[in-house]
Amino acid sequence: LPGIVLRSPEEILKSDGAPYTIFTPYKRQWSRRDLPLPVDILSAPEHLPPLPPGLPSMRLPEADPAPGFPATAAEAQSRLEQFARQGLHRYASERDRLDLDGTSRLSPYLRFGLVSARECFARAQWAFLQAGSPAERVEIQSWMDELVWREFFTMILKQHPHVVNGPFRKEYQAIPWRDAPEDLRAWQKGQTGFPAVDACMRQMLSTGWMHNRGRMIVASFLTKDLLINWQEGEAFFMQHLVDGDLAANNGGWQWTAGTGTDAAPYFRIFNPILQGQKFDPDGNFIARWVPELGKLPPKFRHEPWKLSPSQAQAHHFRIGRDYPDRIVDRSLARQRTLKAYQFARNTVQGD
Ligand code: FAD
Repeated sequence: LPGIVLRSPEEILKSDGAPYTIFTPYKRQWSRRDLPLPVDILSAPEHLPPLPPGLPSMRLPEADPAPGFPATAAEAQSRLEQFARQGLHRYASERDRLDLDGTSRLSPYLRFGLVSARECFARAQWAFLQAGSPAERVEIQSWMDELVWREFFTMILKQHPHVVNGPFRKEYQAIPWRDAPEDLRAWQKGQTGFPAVDACMRQMLSTGWMHNRGRMIVASFLTKDLLINWQEGEAFFMQHLVDGDLAANNGGWQWTAGTGTDAAPYFRIFNPILQGQKFDPDGNFIARWVPELGKLPPKFRHEPWKLSPSQAQAHHFRIGRDYPDRIVDRSLARQRTLKAYQFARNTVQGD
């Protein structure tokens, strides 16, 4: 792991020697000591040991699988530099907006080592020192915190490897997930009838990347609205994301499903309509990825079912023909989910 993360999973421990399970005290401890500069890192090895026998062979695709992410270290450097000059100073304010280009999009480069976390962190620290105001420092700090989340989930995976096969928190082992292949397929294809969910899924299918806010919206929808096991979503993301990373992906899914360390409480269910309205206020993101809704006036792009019959006719738009009907009644789904989670909690307590 040295080089993949800035601090090894064994380096940041509680005073009793146990690993952290909560992000904030982990981050506090993580931030205490100075970090070596990128130039101090390990020099390139003179030779590499032979690969162990029996590894499956890997064939690289002939065409670039993610044309939006040219796979070179030079591209990673130029993205980092551009982001440090232009995006970093407003990161905290814009990072949640689906319709803006407010994040670095460095995740595939970090994932495959085309840029190191140390370089990213050092560049941000430099910007932090140059910042002209406390408000600007808050914006920059918020990006550095995201890099620490990456370290945190890597540490969780190393220290608690059982997360690969099931929930971090035992009390959620017995959630009676639904076996609902049609609903799962609708989610996978971006055909749920919920515009923000569909736009985010189609963004991933088309580009191999999805906005962080989108990942939370679609993960909450799959687990809490459809009551489908987060592991289905985790596997689908790994197949489609160009930044697919076991630690971050597992951590993100378990966080959203409420089964993970330091997770969102189980009764927190994202409302995909309100999320869309808040983080894509003019519906531009939806119009881009769900073009069949792009022809509607912005306020209806989040709730096309609210068009009156005459408005729908004027736009030549019909739910069920031009865009799917909603696949779930969210208020019933909420009751179903709360019951399922409570059942799991009672089951483990009763054991
Ligand atoms: P920025 O906002 O610019 O952040 C900078 C870097 O910090 C990212 O490139 C990433 O390396 C790291 N980072 C940011 N947020 C997180 C986070 N929450 N957890 C861990 N690291 C983070 N990230 C992945 O790299 N691979 C995954 O497979 C992955 N799966 C996810 C699944 C779910 C359900 C959720 C909720 C999040 C997932 N994330 C994953 C975290 C996050 O969504 C992405 O890292 C981020 O969207 C990448 O875009 P960016 O490079 O523009 O990020």
